[in-house]
Amino acid sequence: MKTVKRIPLAGPVLNGNEREYVLDCIDTGWISANGKYVNQFEQKFAEFCNVKHAISVANGTVALHLPLLAYGVGPGDEIIIPTFTYIATANAVKYCGADPVLVDCEENAWNIDPQKIEEKITSKTKGIIVVHLYGHPVDMDPILEIAKKHNLFVIEDAAEAHGAEYKNNVVGSIGDVATFSFFGNKIISTGEGGMITTNNDELATKMRLLRGQGMDPNKRYWFNVIGYNYRMTNLQAAVGLGQLENIDWHLDQRRRVANAYIEQLAPYSSLFTMQPEMPWAKHSYWMVSILLTDKVKAKRDEIMELMEKDGIEMRPLFYPMHHMPPYFEESTYPVADRISARGFNIPTNATLTDEDIAYICNRLIHHCQNSI
Ligand SMILES: *Cc1c(COP(=O)(O)O)cnc(C)c1O
Repeated sequence: MKTVKRIPLAGPVLNGNEREYVLDCIDTGWISANGKYVNQFEQKFAEFCNVKHAISVANGTVALHLPLLAYGVGPGDEIIIPTFTYIATANAVKYCGADPVLVDCEENAWNIDPQKIEEKITSKTKGIIVVHLYGHPVDMDPILEIAKKHNLFVIEDAAEAHGAEYKNNVVGSIGDVATFSFFGNKIISTGEGGMITTNNDELATKMRLLRGQGMDPNKRYWFNVIGYNYRMTNLQAAVGLGQLENIDWHLDQRRRVANAYIEQLAPYSSLFTMQPEMPWAKHSYWMVSILLTDKVKAKRDEIMELMEKDGIEMRPLFYPMHHMPPYFEESTYPVADRISARGFNIPTNATLTDEDIAYICNRLIHHCQNSI
């Protein structure tokens, strides 16, 4: 049997001090949620995002839950989110008993469409969660303006966008709060893990309290509120610190990969287009994303299957939230529907060689040309 080399879609690269720091945790016994790496990782991440507070948590989903709790979001409240996102954005709202209110995305960078937000605001609306999709920042200025006008908070879900920039401001520092994920396929990883960033002192204090079961900071084992155990361990933070020390390298590699794809695929714009990088944006290229044009007769899934047979791991773009049973609505989100149905991600990881990229482009062009 012919064995085809398999090119993975994503995966962590742990080529810095991660091993040394993890071994230090094991040698010293500091493997739980207390320890120097948690503090160092938080401090360094706050510097990286140019904010006062970085609060580490167990994953990127609870990173969204905590600020919603800290803002007092509860039953009867509405939170505006893009329909075109990962399920965690919607679920975190539901964990509070509140309702996510969906908004379509815009045609350019596929992020929440600022022009369609105001029509969804009601007297119950408390805030907006924007998602920097696939590493491309959201056009934040119009959203901040709407939020100010209607007295809403803005959370950036930056789970996919570490190091992306909007008008030279790094994401994580633009809204009232931002959240990050360090799952294994994200830009940097701790296995499972997350981070919250903010400049708001009061909110940071509340979130730290809720993260640690709500224990009174001035009286140990005394609890005035119902909190959660959402802590990150020192072991995870040890990996995270090693990753963060090298984040410029990780981002450079992603840009190298993305630029190689752009160079080789751009001449075939009649077959497919790519999520662009807007003039005001610095993309962090979590995942390079491709849209098939109508000229390609095959279904998206058929092209993906052919690529998989060539040993290339593929991934469909997110299914919009309004298609999922828990959030189902008859569609009034034509842009998200169109993009989601015709798009996929191609391998985007720091270890891809020029040869891998040329092979992936070659197969993609071949299958699409065979289908016109
Ligand atoms: C990955 C991701 C999350 C959740 O992160 P986990 O660490 O997997 O819980 C939230 N939002 C978006 C947009 C994501 O891509």
